[in-house]
Formats: sequence, C-alpha cells, structure tokens
Amino acid sequence: MRGAARSTARSDVPEVDAFTRPYWEAAAQGRLLLRRCRAEGCGRAHHYPREFCPYCWSEDVDWEPAAGRGTLYTWSVVHRNDLPPFGDRVPYVAAVVDLAEGPRMMTEIVGCPEADLRIGMPLVVDFRGDGDAGPGDAGPGDAGLADTGPGDAGPGGAGPGGPRSRDAGPGDTVPGRAGCVVPVFRPAGNSVAG
Ligand SMILES: [Zn+2]
Repeated sequence: MRGAARSTARSDVPEVDAFTRPYWEAAAQGRLLLRRCRAEGCGRAHHYPREFCPYCWSEDVDWEPAAGRGTLYTWSVVHRNDLPPFGDRVPYVAAVVDLAEGPRMMTEIVGCPEADLRIGMPLVVDFRGDGDAGPGDAGPGDAGLADTGPGDAGPGGAGPGGPRSRDAGPGDTVPGRAGCVVPVFRPAGNSVAG
C-alpha cells in the first residue's frame, strides 16, 4: 500500500474499533482499564486487551479499572523516530511497566530525567492528550468531554453521538475524542501538584 499516506497520518494515535473503544474512552477520562479473566481457577488480568484470556483461552473476560500503579521493568531512551509525530518528541523514554495487577505494559515514562530512571522504581499512570495536554485538557475543542462526569460515564453515555448499531471498521478513528489520549507513566514520588 505504498503512496497512500495521508498528510495527517500520525503513528501515535491508535485505531479505535468496537472492542477497544471502552479502553480509549476510559483513557480520555483519565482511567486505565485492564482485562480480567473470570474463568474459575484463572482470574488473571492481562494487557494489552484481548477478547479471550491469554492464559486459559476463556472468553469470559471483562474490563476492570486498574489501580494505575506499577514499577519500572525496563526502558529505552529513543533518540530517533521518523514516524510523525515522534520526531518532535525525541528523546523520549519507551518503557515496559509491571502493573500492580500483574500484566506488563508497553508505555512511555514522562516527568523523569533519564539519569533518575531505576529498575523497580514506583510509577503512577498519567494520561497524555493531543498536544501533550494533561488529563482534563484532553478534549481539543470538544465540549463533550468536559460535560462527562469523571468515572461516571458508562459505555452508552459516552458514545460518540450516534447509535451504536454500526461497528467501527478498521481505521475508523475518532479524531479529537477517544484515541487521542494515551496512558503514560510518571514517577510516583513526584509531588507535582496539578
Ligand atoms: Zn483465564
């Protein structure tokens, strides 16, 4: 598929489909979701989200809010990335974080100088919206997010303004809403207010 690149192509914004929509809508509200298996004798959480449990293959898996805490498993400082918009962000810290619930999560560390990174350091989740905005600033020109009570919006209430009769196809992103806020992690010890 060469030559089909759009001028607006971005490599940091996920493609939201019907299955992952709850995850990205929660992220837009500042909440990190996990998937947890409900099969008897398993009960393990996993990440990234899958429609079946990767440990026992049960399809009895549901979303649950994560505590948003973790520890740093490993990291790599990225100094070059030609995929937009990462080129404007280098250097950044790509990392794998051990979540408190067990799963390992590919993410990015923010708010920590490279020299201060330590294996096992405690981290807390943060959320980056468009333009590196923090949570609460995540809705670029969209009043819908501001009107949504944090943690109160169910899947029906947070819908993108239309009936949910159609599944989102691959590549059917939702610019300016879910999908533009991604979970990142920062040191838990930071006493930065606001
Ligand atoms: Zn399982």
